[in-house]
Amino acid sequence: MNNNVVIPYGKQNITQEDIKKVIEALQSDYLTQGPRILQFEQEFAKYIGCEYAVAVSNGTAALHLCTLALGVKEGDKVITTPITFAASANCVRYCGGEVVFSDIDSETYLIDIEKIKSLLDASPKGTYKGIIPVDFAGRAVNLEELKKLAKEYDLWIIEDACHAPGGYFIDKNGIQQNCGNGNFADLAIFSFHPVKHIACGEGGMITTNNRALYEKLLVLRSHGITKQSDVFTNSIELAGGREEYPGWYMEMQTLGFNYRLTDFQAALGSSQLKRADQGLLKRRQIASKYYNSFIEKEYILGQSGVVEGHAYHLYIIEVENRLGLYNYLKDHNIYAQIHYIPCHLMPYYKEIGWKEGDMSNSEQYYRHCISLPMFPSLKDEEQDYVIAKIYEFFES
Ligand SMILES: *Cc1c(COP(=O)(O)O)cnc(C)c1O
Repeated sequence: MNNNVVIPYGKQNITQEDIKKVIEALQSDYLTQGPRILQFEQEFAKYIGCEYAVAVSNGTAALHLCTLALGVKEGDKVITTPITFAASANCVRYCGGEVVFSDIDSETYLIDIEKIKSLLDASPKGTYKGIIPVDFAGRAVNLEELKKLAKEYDLWIIEDACHAPGGYFIDKNGIQQNCGNGNFADLAIFSFHPVKHIACGEGGMITTNNRALYEKLLVLRSHGITKQSDVFTNSIELAGGREEYPGWYMEMQTLGFNYRLTDFQAALGSSQLKRADQGLLKRRQIASKYYNSFIEKEYILGQSGVVEGHAYHLYIIEVENRLGLYNYLKDHNIYAQIHYIPCHLMPYYKEIGWKEGDMSNSEQYYRHCISLPMFPSLKDEEQDYVIAKIYEFFES
């Protein structure tokens, strides 16, 4: 082990083939909105097992377009977990909606469906508009169960699957349900930030099986402008044509954004996607080794564990002296990370009225959690070194 090498918690993996594909894109006629976007969307949809995919500039933009497409407006109440990246909640605020946090299950670290039910039962039907579950750390939320509840209360679901491309759960008929496959959620989103499974630099994807939402998203992604003549509302004459709309004509029909991905980022995404299964396998091997190394250690209070369908964006352990361990690892060039500081304790959300004590499981989890290095190019000896340093911290 070279002690000067820094081991981060997550890291992209760029191959010569990836570089070649990006260069090809740069030398082509298109830098943005060329053929590689649609190709990446189709490949991604196939990988996930959904009907439609819309590539966007990042995961946060994906979330924003989802809340716009579902028509979130001033005062709409939407439920999400406090243990997530802030964007999962912020997208509701972008549209003026109200974020209602609901606590996690201490075993799975996922939003607790029983607690959501209690929340829904405590108010008249129609109080809440939607739920944003997060496949946190790569563990799939059981959307079959959540969908039952959502149907009963007439709620939409946006699945934040940023951590879980390739993740899945097994439904009650024994069928594998991939994260983001659109069978239960109305919309799902992914991020291609370098620490996530597939890197585009910046990038995101929305997946769905709903054609109407798909078409809305395409328009919202690009300023709300459409070039489809069959939906134009201005007259041909006003547009400047005679028998038909002129070739240049387009209409801005709704307020959209520029959330487009570039063609060369899509080229990188497509190339990375080819190695997604290989990366997932490596992540599962790393998880299994961590699990076996810690299962008999009494100072490990909890861990991500070995779970079928887990995509292992993160491998989390819970320990008593978390600050001590974090600093000890850092002193040894191991940059572990904390996921996440509970959203409801962020000053922005505290200002809106959330406070310490509101989400006891999440707060308890936050006191102990630490995410260990987890990425496909992590070498065996590097993982051994991480484990040895954890043993050393607690045992000497
Ligand atoms: C990374 C991430 C996002 C946001 O993705 P960006 O591409 O960084 O905007 C949203 N939700 C979760 C859970 C994430 O991990």
